[in-house]
Amino acid sequence: MNRFVLADPDQCIGCRTCEIACVIAHSAGNPFISPDDEFHFHPRLKVIKSIGVTAPVQCRHCEDAPCANACPNGSITNADGCILINSESCIGCKTCMIACPYGAITMVPEYRDGRPVVQDGLYSNVSGRLQPKERMIASKCDLCEGVEGGPACIGKCPTRALKLVEPDLVHARVEEKRAASARQLLHMTRIPATGL
Ligand code: SF4
Ligand code: SF4
Repeated sequence: MNRFVLADPDQCIGCRTCEIACVIAHSAGNPFISPDDEFHFHPRLKVIKSIGVTAPVQCRHCEDAPCANACPNGSITNADGCILINSESCIGCKTCMIACPYGAITMVPEYRDGRPVVQDGLYSNVSGRLQPKERMIASKCDLCEGVEGGPACIGKCPTRALKLVEPDLVHARVEEKRAASARQLLHMTRIPATGL
């Protein structure tokens, strides 16, 4: 079973530190001391604030991933329990973005060595002048693949609102709930409890 990062809305204070940690973890240098035109703030999780809830939303690394099923050219794969997007082959068609039930995917410009990658043979008409068009690709949480100590958002959250949900934790929680349900049933039917 795939692992994923889960947020506790009761703990989250909406400070967006997790977004900043994500950007730093996926930047080659320190984005806060880069020149303005080299600063790219594209976190792979998004803090949502509504009247009742504040919490970051990010990829759940679905077992039967709708984004991968929908991708027309096989750019989304499962590697070591993590759903990953291949930025090299992504064509930016947005099919995965629409298919994802969590809204976990965003389209971002692709950068190489801090510079936007432009698309061969495609131009934008900007105020009557043709300019090379930036290549856009799908982006989402990759569980900080290759980042030491990742996922970075978990360690930087000041209120410990985030945790990595491993398969063992899910199984333990399910067993707890089953035992609780059984206890409730026994109480309702007044059958003497044994071993619960
Ligand atoms: S860092 Fe923690 S408290 Fe701050 S927005 Fe993210 S999850 Fe919420
Ligand atoms: S991007 Fe969305 S659909 Fe794809 S694995 Fe993550 S949560 Fe599931």
